[in-house]
Amino acid sequence: MLIGQQIGPFEVESELGSGAMGTVYRAKFRRSAEKVVPVALKVVALGLLGNEGAMARFDREANILKQLKHPHIVRLIAYGKINKATPYIAMEFIDGEALDRVLARRGKLGWEEVVSYGKQLAEALQYAHDKGIIHRDLKPSNLMITKDGVLKLTDFGIAKDTDVTALTGANSTIGTAAYMSPEQCKGDRNLGNKSDLYSLGIVFFELLTGRKPFTAETTVEMFLKHVNEKAPRIGKQVNDLPPKFESLILQLLEKDKEDRPVDASWVARMLGEIEEDAFARKSAGLAAAQARTAKPTNQSGDRMDAADRDAARALRGKKKKTKKKVVLPLFQQKWVHAVGILAILLAIVFGAYLMLRTAGPEQMFAAIDRADTPAAKADAAGKFLDTYGAKGGELVDKATTIFREATVRERERQLTNRHDSRTLRKPIESDDPDAFDNAMQAIDAEKSGDFALAEAMWRKVKSRFPAEADLPFTTNEQLLAKARWGWVADKRLADVKGARAELAKLHEKIKDSRLHELPLKPDTTNPESLAIRTLRLKEFGDPEKAGRTCDVLVTLAEKESERRAWFLLGTHLRSTIPKGANDPVAVRRQRITEWLNSTDRTAKQVRDEPEHPERGVLMRTVRNRCRDVAELYEDETDEKVKEEVVRAAKIVEALPKKQ
Ligand code: ATP
Ligand code: MG
Repeated sequence: MLIGQQIGPFEVESELGSGAMGTVYRAKFRRSAEKVVPVALKVVALGLLGNEGAMARFDREANILKQLKHPHIVRLIAYGKINKATPYIAMEFIDGEALDRVLARRGKLGWEEVVSYGKQLAEALQYAHDKGIIHRDLKPSNLMITKDGVLKLTDFGIAKDTDVTALTGANSTIGTAAYMSPEQCKGDRNLGNKSDLYSLGIVFFELLTGRKPFTAETTVEMFLKHVNEKAPRIGKQVNDLPPKFESLILQLLEKDKEDRPVDASWVARMLGEIEEDAFARKSAGLAAAQARTAKPTNQSGDRMDAADRDAARALRGKKKKTKKKVVLPLFQQKWVHAVGILAILLAIVFGAYLMLRTAGPEQMFAAIDRADTPAAKADAAGKFLDTYGAKGGELVDKATTIFREATVRERERQLTNRHDSRTLRKPIESDDPDAFDNAMQAIDAEKSGDFALAEAMWRKVKSRFPAEADLPFTTNEQLLAKARWGWVADKRLADVKGARAELAKLHEKIKDSRLHELPLKPDTTNPESLAIRTLRLKEFGDPEKAGRTCDVLVTLAEKESERRAWFLLGTHLRSTIPKGANDPVAVRRQRITEWLNSTDRTAKQVRDEPEHPERGVLMRTVRNRCRDVAELYEDETDEKVKEEVVRAAKIVEALPKKQ
C-alpha cells in the first residue's frame, strides 16, 4: 500500500478506486517549492507492463496526452516511473464522482441530463479525434462529473492493451468488453474515430436505461453480441425519450462503422437540436399553462400537479416557493382573473396562428408520411411536388426522394407480377415494348443469378429514355411513364452492385472469422448469416446442403424490395453451386469423417511436437476445422453426423491449452 508514502514529488493520501490497469490514489503533488496541487495518481499494475513494447507505448501515449487541453478532458499533469520501474500518471484531481457510481446510486438518468453530458463528451471526443487520438475505452467509470455538473473525460487509451488477446487472457474484464465496438472486438488494430462513437452509443444506452444493451457470461460471448446482435430498442423504457435521441443512439450502435454518424461534432449538434426541440415544445406547453393560470389543470383536465407547476415555474425562470405566505388562493384573486382572460385570448390567437401556419407545406408533407402503401405515398408526394416542387428546399428534396422511391417500388411490384405470370407477361398500352422486353430479360437474369447479364439488360432499359430518366421528378403522366423506366433500372443496377460488394465482404468476413476464431453461428432469419453458411458449406464440399441453405436465403429475401441485393446474392450463389450427388447423405458422412481424420492427425502432431515452429498455426487450423464441422452440422439429425460433431469437440478438447 502506498498510502501515507512520499513517492518522488507525490504524497499519497488515500485510495480513490482501482480498475483494470491499476489503482488511483489521491495525492499531493509538489509542483514547486511553494505550489502544492491535489492530483489523482494512477499507478499502473506491474504485471501489465512487463514488456518493452508496452513501456514504449506508455511513454509515447503519455506524451501525446499531455497535449490534450480541453475543458471536458481531465488534464494530465505529469507521468513517469516510480523507482524507474512502475509507471504512473498524475492527473488533475476531479472533485466529483464517476458516472458508474452515479448510476449505482440512482439507477438511471433522465434524458435531459444525458443530453447535457453527451454534448460535453462529444465535444471532448471531437477535439481528441482532431488530434488523431482515439479514446478506446469510453465507459461510465471514465466519465467524471464535477460538483457543478461538468463532465470530464479521463483515461485516454493510455497504457491500454485493448486488443483482443489481452482481454481474452487472464486479465479479461467483461466490464470493458461491454463497451467495445464490433471492429475492436474483431481485433482490428487500426481503430478509427467511429469506434469511440459506438462506445458512446453504449454509454448513452446504459445511462438512460440503467442497463447495458448486451449481457454475456464471457468476453468472447460479449464480442459476438457486439458483432452480430442487434441492440434492443429503448424508446418504451425511457420516459419521454425524444424519438430523435433514440434514433441517434441506434445510429451510433450501427455494426458497420460506415453507417454510424460522420463524427463526434455531428453528434454534438444533434444533441443540441434535441435539446432545442424539447425547449420549443416546453415553451409551447408553457403558453398553454399560462392560459390556464386561472384554474391550473393539466392536459387531461385534472388540476396541475406539483411537477407540472414546477416545470412551468422553472421555464419562467422562477424559483420554487419555499416559504408559505397567508394569501388568498390564486384563483380567487381579481388580477388573476384579468390575466387569465387575457392569456386565454392570447392562447386562442396563438392557436389560430398555429393552425394557419401548418396549413402550408408542412401539413401537405405530413400527408406523405401518413400514406402507408407505396402507391399512396407516391400519390401524396406527387401532390406535394405539384404544388411546391418548383420552390426547392429541404422538404421538396425529401418529397422528391420519397416520390421516386415509392414510384420505383410500385413499378417493381408491377413488373415482378407481370414477369411471374404467363398471361400478364406483356406490356400494357402505356408501356414501351422494348423497355418492357429488356426489363423481363433483366429479371430473368437476376433470377438465374447472372449479374453481368442483368446489368447489361438494365442498362439497356435505362438508355431507352435517357433524358426523362434524368428528371429528378415529374408528375406528368406521359413523362413519368418514360422516366420511371430509368429510375427502376437505376435502383436495380444499384442492387446488383450491392450484391457484388456484399459478396466480397462475406469472403472477408469468413477469412476474418478464421483468423480471430470468431464463431459464425447460423441464424436462419438473417440473410447475411445464411449467405455465409451457404459459402462455407459449398467450400466444405456439401453442395446439397449449401443449395438448401441458399434456397432459404432466396425465399427470405425475394419478397422485399429492400432486400433485393440479398436476393440477387442468393440466386448468384445458387448458380455457382455444383449439382449434388445422388446420395448426399452418404457423401456427407464420408466427407466429414475424412475431414476429421486428417484434422485429428494434425492435432496429434501438435501434441507430439511441442517445439514445432508452426505450432500456433497448426492449433488454429485444428480448431477452425473442428468448428466447421460443429457449426455447419450441429442442426443435423443423422446419427452418424451427430457422432462426428461430438468427435470434433473432443479433438479440440484434447489440444494443449491455447497459446
Ligand atoms: P479502467 O482502468 O478500465 O479505466 P476504471 O475507470 O473503473 O477502469 P480507474 O481508471 O483505475 O478504473 O479509476 C478508478 C476510480 O478512480 C474511478 O472510478 C474514479 O472514481 C477515480 N478517479 C479516476 N480518475 C480520477 C480523477 N482524475 N480524479 C478523481 N478521481 C478519479
Ligand atoms: Mg478509468
